[in-house]
Amino acid sequence: ARKIGVLTSGGDAPGMNAAVRAVVRYGLSKGCDVYAVYEGYQGLVDGGKCIRKMDWKSVRGWLSIGGTTIGTARCMPFKTREGRLQAAENLVKEGISSLIVCGGDGSLTGADVFRSEWGGLIDELKQNERITPEEADTYQHLTIVGLVGSIDNDMSSTDITIGAITSLHRICESVDSINTTALSHSRAFVIEVMGRHCGWLALMAGIATGADFVFIPERPPAGDDWETAMCEVAHRHREMGKRKTVIIVAEGAIDRSLNPIKAKHIKNILTDRLGLDTRVTTLGHTQRGGSPAAFDRILATTQGVEAVDAVLRSSPDTPSPLIGISSNKVTSGPLMKAVELTHEVAKAISEKNFARAMELRDPQFAE
Ligand code: ATP
Repeated sequence: ARKIGVLTSGGDAPGMNAAVRAVVRYGLSKGCDVYAVYEGYQGLVDGGKCIRKMDWKSVRGWLSIGGTTIGTARCMPFKTREGRLQAAENLVKEGISSLIVCGGDGSLTGADVFRSEWGGLIDELKQNERITPEEADTYQHLTIVGLVGSIDNDMSSTDITIGAITSLHRICESVDSINTTALSHSRAFVIEVMGRHCGWLALMAGIATGADFVFIPERPPAGDDWETAMCEVAHRHREMGKRKTVIIVAEGAIDRSLNPIKAKHIKNILTDRLGLDTRVTTLGHTQRGGSPAAFDRILATTQGVEAVDAVLRSSPDTPSPLIGISSNKVTSGPLMKAVELTHEVAKAISEKNFARAMELRDPQFAE
C-alpha cells in the first residue's frame, strides 16, 4: 500500500484537525496507509514516536476540535540540510515517500525545498550506509502536496485559507462585545488584530462590524497626515450622533513611509486631539482558538480529499501542487508559483507599491 504522511506546521489554525481527519480517512478508503507526523517538521527530524500510523478511529471527533491535535512547531533544524537529511532517513525507514503538509507559506516553501533536494539526500544517505541501496532505489522521489492552514488568509492563488473564517468570526464576536461597552460609556476603542503581513482579518472585521477606521499593511492611509484624516472621520461620525469609535489595526499596519502604526499611538491621538476616552484592546490568541466554523470544516475536508487524490495522480516530473479554492471549486495548482506570488505582495509593500499589493491580494479591494 502507498504510505502517505500528513503533518501540520507553522501557526495553528482552526480546521487543521478536519484536514488531517480527511486525509486519514479518505487515504484509508483509497487503500493507502496513512501516518501522522506529530510536532510538524520537528517530528520528521526526530522520527520514532513522532511518526504514527493512523486508523479510522484515530481521528474520531476531530472535526470540531480547534488547533491541531498532532501538534505544530517552528523547527530550526529543518531549515538546515543536516536536519532535512535526518528527516529523509526517518521517512525512508518508515517507507513514506508522500507528504501532505498543512501550513503557511514558510512551511510550504520548506516542503518544496525538501522535495527538490530529495535525490541528493537519498544519494548521501546511501553513500553513508544510513539506508540500503534497495531503499535508495525504492524511494527515489518524494511527493509533496500543500494545504494552506493559516488564520491570516495570506496565500495567493486561493480565495481563502483553512482557519481564516473561524478567526474572523472570533474577532467579530470580540468587537461586538467591545461595542456594547463602548456605547455605554461613549468610549473609543483601538482593537489590534492578528496579521503581521496581511490585512485581510482587519479589513474584513472592519466591514463586518462597521468600524470607523481600519489600518492594514497593504494599503496605508492616504496622504502624509493620516492622524488628521483619521480624526476627521472619527469626529464626523461622532457629529452624526455615534456614541462609540472603533478603530481596527492589523499587527503589521504601516504608514506610507513603512513606519509601523501602533495601537498605543492611535489611542494617544484620539485622546489628545478629540478628547475621547480611549482604550486599547489586543485580541491576541483568542483569535486562533476554539471550534472551527462549519465553513472551515468543509473547506478542510474537501481539500484534504483533494490532497490525497493529488498524491495518487502525482508524477516525479510535475511540480508540487497546492490545494486551493477558487469561486467555490477546489483547485490544484503549482505550489511554488503560489508561494512566489505571496512573496510578491511583501516585495510590493517594501517598494511602496501599495496599488500592486492590493491588486495581488484581492483585486476587489484594489480601488
Ligand atoms: P504562519 O503563516 O503561521 O507563519 P508558516 O508556515 O509560514 O506559518 P513558518 O514559521 O514560516 O510558518 O514556517 C514553519 C516551519 O517551516 C519552520 O519552522 C521551518 O521548520 C519550516 N520552514 C520554513 N521555511 C523554510 C525553508 N525555506 N526551508 C526549510 N524549512 C522551512
